[in-house]
Order: sequence, then structure tokens, then C-alpha cells
Amino acid sequence: MVYNDSRFEEIWNTVLVRLENDINDKTVFSTYFQDTKILSIEGDLVTILTNSAFGKEVLNRKFLEKIQDFLCDVTQSNFKCQIIDQTGLNGLKKNGHAASVSTPTGDAFITHLNPRYSFENFVVGLSNRECYSAALATAMNPGDFYNPLFIYGKSGLGKTHILHAIGNYVRLKRPAFKVLYLTADDFFEEYVRAIKDRELESLKDRFREIDLLLLDDVQFMATKERTKETFFHVFNLLVNAGKQIVITSDRPPHELRSLEDRLVGRFASGLSLEIKALEYETALAILNKKIEAQNINGGAIAHDVLEHIARHYASDVRQLEGALNKLLFYAITFNPEKPEIDMNTALETFQSLTRMKEKNPVTVDRIKLVVSEYYNISPAQLTSKLRTSNLVVARHLAMYLSRELLDLPLTKIGEAFGGRDHSTVINACDKVDKMLKENEDYVSVVSELKSLIKSQ
Ligand code: ADP
Ligand code: MG
Repeated sequence: MVYNDSRFEEIWNTVLVRLENDINDKTVFSTYFQDTKILSIEGDLVTILTNSAFGKEVLNRKFLEKIQDFLCDVTQSNFKCQIIDQTGLNGLKKNGHAASVSTPTGDAFITHLNPRYSFENFVVGLSNRECYSAALATAMNPGDFYNPLFIYGKSGLGKTHILHAIGNYVRLKRPAFKVLYLTADDFFEEYVRAIKDRELESLKDRFREIDLLLLDDVQFMATKERTKETFFHVFNLLVNAGKQIVITSDRPPHELRSLEDRLVGRFASGLSLEIKALEYETALAILNKKIEAQNINGGAIAHDVLEHIARHYASDVRQLEGALNKLLFYAITFNPEKPEIDMNTALETFQSLTRMKEKNPVTVDRIKLVVSEYYNISPAQLTSKLRTSNLVVARHLAMYLSRELLDLPLTKIGEAFGGRDHSTVINACDKVDKMLKENEDYVSVVSELKSLIKSQ
């Protein structure tokens, strides 16, 4: 993204807060960092200005790596840093770089790429092979193969990872390419800011410069009518100019309603692919890769434990990683001398995790409470036989949410709602599904209710 001075300040302040925490020495921090600022960002180079020659020395020798790490983390980009002082600044001015010092040029481009995600550390299996190879082909020939490339699938299956891998690959092979990763929400925020500052045209201009646009979680765009128009404008501009676009979403294009045709359908070169839940072998391979990457002695975890995790968490790599990390943490914390994890230790850990989770479980009562508060009725009305229209809507929703959020048979849900039978529950859920497809407001009501239910 292209940024101005105030954005530099914002980024730098965030980095400073982290540095201050990390250094944990007020004197040192204030001596060397007090009068520092980001002077410019050009390509991948961030220039930081300090007020003293000695300060420059210290920052360069002692803190450069840290500064760089935090900067990369805060901006989610791959940056190198240079520290200069007033003498260096004069030199820059003499060499004719002064313009970029006071007014950052169009080169000040932040990609938002996370260097951690690459093709190399993405484990390929049946479930994701197609996506992987389409993504790699796209990265090798941006704009030539599949454009736009649309990748969809449930949460935690590696969509974001693949987007960054494409971006990092392209940046490596074609350093001059302008690559931008952003989520649909980021786009929305950019849009709102541009409207507020009356800078819509310049927003469009900035997007026009991009060679590769990686847009994550486009499902969030589905309900934002006005943003959509601007996005389509940018989108058409880029695709028609042969610039590559890759999009991800948690659902297939045809479930994005009005977005579908305009995003993928109308482009002959467009391709949409599903990334599926992992099969057991791939889950196991991922676990081994993660263990390898963390440089842990793989033998420390018994093989049947890894199999157990792979079998239970294959539907979501994020959970798979989470389970592994918890185990490792447990082993290192409780038995640092000999952190061996056998099946007993593992089951114990998972049990304590389950107990932790169960502290605030989602229950039918919780769902009833939240839904009835939301509709301003009583929980008893929700289960009653009354059929006034607002009660019916709320009742259907509560049954639907119970099906979505609880691991309960439909007959049990029916019982919990005034002894109704399971076909009534199915009926209610079908109605809600239909409403969700037809009415965008309904989608946000349901997601709001879900987060209310979970946040207790
Ligand atoms: P999504 O965007 O689909 O919700 P992410 O890309 O955020 O999922 O993936 C969640 C986590 O799982 C990330 O840490 C990612 O690196 C990891 N991950 C997902 N799929 C794989 C894979 N096939 N190989 C290695 N790591 C993976
Ligand atoms: Mg994601």
C-alpha cells in the first residue's frame, strides 16, 4: 500500500511501543529512540532517521535486527532497514533524493506480505494439490494462466497461507512487481477512508499501479454494496490490463450471490478451486513438518500421539497446529529435563484442555437467552406454542443456532424447544438457510448472534 507521512508515524509508533517493551530499559530506550522517525519507505527499504551520529551507531549495531523484525511484523511486509543521521540526510539531499525524504514517492509501497508463508512450507496432499498447483502456476506466470484465481474452503485450511506464498514467490522472482495483499475488510476500510477524505479517485489510481492483487476473505464484501462497486471497478481495471488477481473466500462463488458473476463468472480465464479438509496422511505430514521447522526432537513425541492428533484435527490445520503447540508447551513446562510425550501425557493434556474449554460451554440455554434478549422476548416464549410472527422467527433462529453450535442430535434440540419433534427442527433450519440466501441483513444478524453466544 502507498502511505503518507501520518501513516509512517502510525507504523513507527507501533514499532516503538514494541521496542520499548522488548528493551525494557527506560534510559536506553529514551536515549536512542526518542527522536527517531521513519523518513521514507522506498521499495523494500525503510530509512529511519535518528538525531545523533552516536545514536546511529548504537541502533545499527545493537538494534537493527530487532527494529527490522518488528517493522516486518507490524506491516506484515518484508523490509530491510537503514538508519541514518543528519549527516546521512544531508548526503541524501545532495544526491538528489531529497524529494523522497519530505514527500514519499509512489515507490513507497507496502505489500503486507508475511514472509513466513511460502510454497516450500506448505504441505501438499490430495485435499489441496489442485489449489497448490494452480497457485504456483499463477505465481510463475502472473496474469497469464488463471485470472482471476478464486480459492475457497473452510477456515484453517491454508487459503491465507497460499495467498502469501504466491505473493512472496512473485516478489522473489520479480522484485519490480507491485504486490498487494489485503483482506476484503482492509479494502472496505481503505474505501471508507478514501470517501471521507474525498480521495476515491486517488484510491483507484493507487490500485491501478498494482501488478498482483491478493484479496483474502472476500465473503465479507458480499454485504457492502457501495464498496462492491468501487471494488469491481478496480477489479475490472486490473484484470483487463492483464494484472493478476487471486481471491479467497470461505464459500464457493455461487454462494456469494451477486458477487459471483462479476468476480469469476464473466472472465473466461477465471478459475475457482476448492481447498478441502485434509486427509489423515496430509495432516500427519504437516505435523512432522511443523516439528521439523521448530527444530524439536521429533522422537520426543510418540508416533501414536501424532496419529491421534492427525486423526482428530484434520478438518482444520489451525487447530492441528494448536494441538501440537499445546502438547509441546506442556512437555517443556512440566518436564523440561526430558520432554517426552507419550499417549498418557497427551491424553492428560487434551483432557485438561477440554476441561478449560468446558468452563464456559455453549448450551441450548445460553442460545435461548441470547436470542430472546436480542428479540426482546422471554426464553419461555421461545419454547412456547405461541406462533406470532416475531416469536416464530426467533424460535427458528434459536433452533438453527443450536444445530450450528452444538453437537446435539436434532431430536434433543426439538425436546429443548418445548418438546417439538426433529422434523420441526429441520423445517426451522431450512427456513433460516433460505433466509440467509435471500437476505443479506439476515447474514449479519446470524453472525452477530453467534458471536454474542460465544462471548460470555
Ligand atoms: P485459512 O486462511 O484457510 O483460514 P490459514 O492459511 O490461515 O487458513 O492456515 C491456518 C494455519 O495452518 C497457518 O498457520 C498455515 O500456515 C497452516 N497451514 C494450512 N495448511 C497448511 C499446509 N497444507 N501445510 C502447512 N501449513 C498449513
Ligand atoms: Mg485466512
